[in-house]
Amino acid sequence: MPISSGLNNEKIRVGIVLPEDNIHEITLSWASGVDIKTDVAGLQKSNECSLQIASNQIRIITETHEYLVPSLKLSCQDDVEKLSTAFGIHVDPVIAGRGFHWEKRIEVDLPGELRISNENGHFKLINTLDVEAYVACVATSEMGSEAPADLLAAQTVVARCWSLAMVEAKHLAEGYDVCNDDCCQRYQGTSFLTPHSLKAAIDTRSEVLVYENKVIDARYSKNCGGMVEAYDTVWEGGEVPYLIPLWDAPEQKPGFAVENFAEHFDYHAAYCSSRRFENVNLAGMLGKVDVSGSYYRWEQQMNKDDLLSNLKKYTGLAWKQIDDIEIMERGPSSRIKYLFLKGIDQNGESVRQMVKSEYGIRQMFSDSFLYSSAFVIKNAATLKDDDHVILQGLGWGHGVGLCQMGALGMALDNITYRDILRHYYPGTTFTTLK
Ligand SMILES: [Zn+2]
Ligand SMILES: [Zn+2]
Repeated sequence: MPISSGLNNEKIRVGIVLPEDNIHEITLSWASGVDIKTDVAGLQKSNECSLQIASNQIRIITETHEYLVPSLKLSCQDDVEKLSTAFGIHVDPVIAGRGFHWEKRIEVDLPGELRISNENGHFKLINTLDVEAYVACVATSEMGSEAPADLLAAQTVVARCWSLAMVEAKHLAEGYDVCNDDCCQRYQGTSFLTPHSLKAAIDTRSEVLVYENKVIDARYSKNCGGMVEAYDTVWEGGEVPYLIPLWDAPEQKPGFAVENFAEHFDYHAAYCSSRRFENVNLAGMLGKVDVSGSYYRWEQQMNKDDLLSNLKKYTGLAWKQIDDIEIMERGPSSRIKYLFLKGIDQNGESVRQMVKSEYGIRQMFSDSFLYSSAFVIKNAATLKDDDHVILQGLGWGHGVGLCQMGALGMALDNITYRDILRHYYPGTTFTTLK
């Protein structure tokens, strides 16, 4: 039986510059050895051009020419076997960390085709490229240059499955398959591509995990906190048979982390425990824009005033005070499904408000997106009188599927990428497409 996937094409369309980025000037450049094809006659003879928004057109300025066009297309080759670091069309600027506190402007190098248009006075740039080239670039953007080979191979297969399964398909209405950011998968073209990640992509070429003849929806997050979370704790749509709770450790034991949070807080048998990385250069092995610190176990403090302003921001409710936080239900890894804020409104009435979903909870309890929704309120007993709330938590991200730090722990233990993937996606099998 043929393997089915959501992306019915060998090419993937990635949104790079989006209208909401408010970018009105872009510089494109390319090395003289790069064979450029373009629909703007003569443009390929330059090595650099600057693009500006000019009412409903785009002005292209090179050293010798000026063009006015409604849109433009440029392309170079995107065969994964021929890629190298910084190969392609250099684009400056591009937004990374869109909407997060680490949002910044970066420059990227893109293989394949670039389509640039003027969307109501803002630039839109879509990069269409071979899926194999895309996953090689994604694995690098998600990982550091010193990542072990089996970690890179695992991340590459996961990125390929996630891309082909196209379950989330968040951007189809906007004319592309995925965006370039953490909303989908972080993609920065070939800018940081290393020979190691390229090798991982070529060595695992077309290899995917399948379940019942379908490419799997390979979710992953940074650090599960010791137990991998169940799909249905975080997302709607019921259970997914291969995204189930499991101990992120060499030995499975009975029960779930949620059954005893205090005991689980001291659990260090996990592959992703911070204790495994005490003498490891984590920054070199994991992604680049991530904030440093401890993610396996953490503590954060938030002023109740800030919590009140988040409550206003996300629900429209203007309260006078917050007296209590009642946690109602958790998933197996301890991630909270929903909770109630309790307090006093402007009329002096006692009120309560539900905060639900892993995303909604992380947004509410931080100015910069909380590491995870797996936490306890450390000062619960005195919260009514305190001016702040202390969150004691574990893990970074939703915790479902592959745990990137756990996969690093496994790779450092010389476990192969296939065994790493078998651990995180139980019941799935490997196959090679085409
Ligand atoms: Zn996205
Ligand atoms: Zn883990």
